[in-house]
Amino acid sequence: MIQSGKTMNCELIPIFDDNYVFVIIDDDHQCAVVIDPGEASAVTKFLLEKKLKLSAILLTHHHHDHIGGVEELKNKFACEVYAPLKNKNQISNANYYVAEAQRITINQLTFEVKELPGHTLGHVAYWLEKQAWLFSGDVIFGLGCGRLFEGVPAQMFESLSWIKTLPAETKIFCTHEYTQTNLEFTKSILTKAEFADLVSLADLKKYEDSLKIPSVPLLLSTQRNLSLFLQTKNLEQFTKLRQLRNQF
Ligand SMILES: [Zn+2]
Repeated sequence: MIQSGKTMNCELIPIFDDNYVFVIIDDDHQCAVVIDPGEASAVTKFLLEKKLKLSAILLTHHHHDHIGGVEELKNKFACEVYAPLKNKNQISNANYYVAEAQRITINQLTFEVKELPGHTLGHVAYWLEKQAWLFSGDVIFGLGCGRLFEGVPAQMFESLSWIKTLPAETKIFCTHEYTQTNLEFTKSILTKAEFADLVSLADLKKYEDSLKIPSVPLLLSTQRNLSLFLQTKNLEQFTKLRQLRNQF
């Protein structure tokens, strides 16, 4: 699956049961940036096959399914590693630690760091304004959001609220393929009429497109229309919805 920017494209490597590793490729210079490599072998194979130099790895948070491949890739490709400053204790092998509003330029791409706590306390996303691409780890998923392992609902509600402010055409590269499960959840808590109303907001074609596997990258405008988590009006509603999803 290829998403084209101006001279950049982003490919997805599926790993484990439902994770994606993202590879942003600069075709002109045969180099790449990898986001959240949970394991090294699939990424190594991909880079060698495409004859790409690995410039850097960006990490969104410290969970093992996002960082498990870092050490091996770093040794193999001598790349630089960026990790959230608030995860310095959990991720000791990064070259750089990044925090809110910091800008990083790699392979002519300028990533802006946005701290989005909730799933974990130190979680960051990487925003490419020019491409309107967001690498958001485990904050938002298709029709859903990440579990609150470390943060409180207010933090996740704020994090999702920020994502909602991005341009409608934003492509969201989230790390897990959970859209189908979240669709089942959505159907389980709505009446048939409510569900039909929800789909009509996005229109049927966009709704069907958003469910194709891979469903990632997500289109923000479609998520705004279809995700119950993005539609909650206040913290109370959000907290209740997240609790229901935990029990689903
Ligand atoms: Zn996680």
